[in-house]
Amino acid sequence: VSAPKTIVYTVDCTEPERHIYHVSLQLTGFGPGRHALTMPVWIPWWVQDASRHVFNVRVEHGAAGGTAVEKTAKNTWCFEAAADRVVVTYSVYAFEPRVDASHLDGTHAFWNGGNLFMMVDGEKNLPIDLYIQAPEGWHVSTGLDRVDGHPFQFRAPNYDVLFDCPVEVGTHRRFFFEVGGKRHELALWGTGNEDAEQLVADTRRIVEAEGRMFGGLPYDHYTFILHIGERGGGLEHMNSTACGVRRTAFRPWDHYRHVLELLAHEFFHLWNVKRIHPDTLGPFDYEREVYTHLLWAMEGFTSYYAMLSLRRAGLYTVSEYLGALAHEVETYEKLPGRYVMSLASASFDTWIKLSKPDADSPNRSISYYLKGHLVGVLMDLEIRRRTDNGQSLDDVLRLLYQRYGAAGVGFPEHAYQDAVEEVAGGSLQEFFARYIEGVDELPLDELLATAGLKLERVVKNPDRREGDDGAGKDDSASDPAYAWLGVECRADRPGIEVCTVYDPGPGAGSLYAGDEILAVNRVRVKTPDEVAARVRADAVPGSTVSVQLFREGLLLDVPVTVGEAPPNRYRLVRLPDASPRQRATYESWLAASWPESEGTAAPH
Ligand SMILES: [Zn+2]
Repeated sequence: VSAPKTIVYTVDCTEPERHIYHVSLQLTGFGPGRHALTMPVWIPWWVQDASRHVFNVRVEHGAAGGTAVEKTAKNTWCFEAAADRVVVTYSVYAFEPRVDASHLDGTHAFWNGGNLFMMVDGEKNLPIDLYIQAPEGWHVSTGLDRVDGHPFQFRAPNYDVLFDCPVEVGTHRRFFFEVGGKRHELALWGTGNEDAEQLVADTRRIVEAEGRMFGGLPYDHYTFILHIGERGGGLEHMNSTACGVRRTAFRPWDHYRHVLELLAHEFFHLWNVKRIHPDTLGPFDYEREVYTHLLWAMEGFTSYYAMLSLRRAGLYTVSEYLGALAHEVETYEKLPGRYVMSLASASFDTWIKLSKPDADSPNRSISYYLKGHLVGVLMDLEIRRRTDNGQSLDDVLRLLYQRYGAAGVGFPEHAYQDAVEEVAGGSLQEFFARYIEGVDELPLDELLATAGLKLERVVKNPDRREGDDGAGKDDSASDPAYAWLGVECRADRPGIEVCTVYDPGPGAGSLYAGDEILAVNRVRVKTPDEVAARVRADAVPGSTVSVQLFREGLLLDVPVTVGEAPPNRYRLVRLPDASPRQRATYESWLAASWPESEGTAAPH
């Protein structure tokens, strides 16, 4: 008779300066025989192959001695157990300071479960005990449940929870607040130009606003891990998130609002994606890529609600919200890929598209974050239009949460459209066919008008100053057309590198990504802005400029027929003659009253 099966992990991070975790896995009660251990291949949504950092895998059987470990796949180790209790030990090199990877240095330890922990084949649902051995003076912040009275002992009900709870260990600052009787922690690793007190207050307002939408907070405690350092990013979890921002991200407000959007985005995911999700997105198959056509709803709608929640929390004014939304439209309408790849395909192919971007990505693919955000706005306005503001996209998410998320189950792919149609009270087949499965132009102007808003797309020549045209009054008028190469460049040491050639676009067929531009019409240029300025000054749309550049080390003279520059200033302005119905939609959507006194003044 075997003892009950137990799995105990110990993570030793007492050798931080070499970036090496020493992990031990104690298995009891599994009996003699052949066992397999596997590591996840991916972390949402990129194939990370974390097993590449694992070394020195050994098995000890106590008195029975040790046995060899056989590698049977890139992420799988097999061994014959001679005793009822075996200890597997291994080391993991961790020096990737990303929130979706793992890091260990003299300042802290941070890991994602998928980077450190092997699964015991066939035993994913057993509870797991975790012991952490840390340098003197370090403490732990994580979504894992702590064993009472033991600051370094945790327990996960199964492997999925161990995978889903990143852990921050170090001397980081910790802030606590309560919302709805639930404990929230903000753990800050690193320092920058933050006002920590303000950050805690604003984070609380985000928690309150998003919690209100779903009528409560579905966890016992929640942990925000925020890395203040050199890079941005965020990853969502059931009752925690790990986010990264730059040290200078907290001032001025126009930077800081992106920090708040990131926190609002990752927090919203605790519902949308972690609880409301198609069945392939949980529990995960860690061994291979998982596929869904719905990432536009999982990620794009989360981006939409991140911004809308800041508005609902009063952290964005209406003008700031509409300005940020107009900027999203401008970014989207620059991308030729919106006519090539649908949202459904972009979701399905994320493993080879969004997670592996290249110079051609803007032309042949589309971000389900960006377009999904805009489709979220449109779907919300369409539901409001059909139901006379009686229902909204909020009701779709609440319905999916109540029907599936709260019960802890995923839904079949078709359930999403079903839920939208149930809330809207009719078919949205055409909407889905054109804007989600198809690549039709989005009806932004038409649906924004239902909320009394007009989208202005204006061409502004950076060389013209305000009032150059004498009148200086009609700010919504475009400048005369000016010339444009149709490329994006970045400053490269020491030159200017073409990073994107828009196709279709004037540069396509002439310029290549990777070209190093030296001169335009033989006049030296030193920055990307100078390239664009020379083209505006030397050419009119339809004429030709010569570009002197290095390509693969060869000096070339390349003629380019320049095009007409696209709109570069987008604004959402209120319609002066909006009807009561349009005003009512505006008010219920933006949680604000229609300004009565402003006349036709435009927000910005
Ligand atoms: Zn996200």
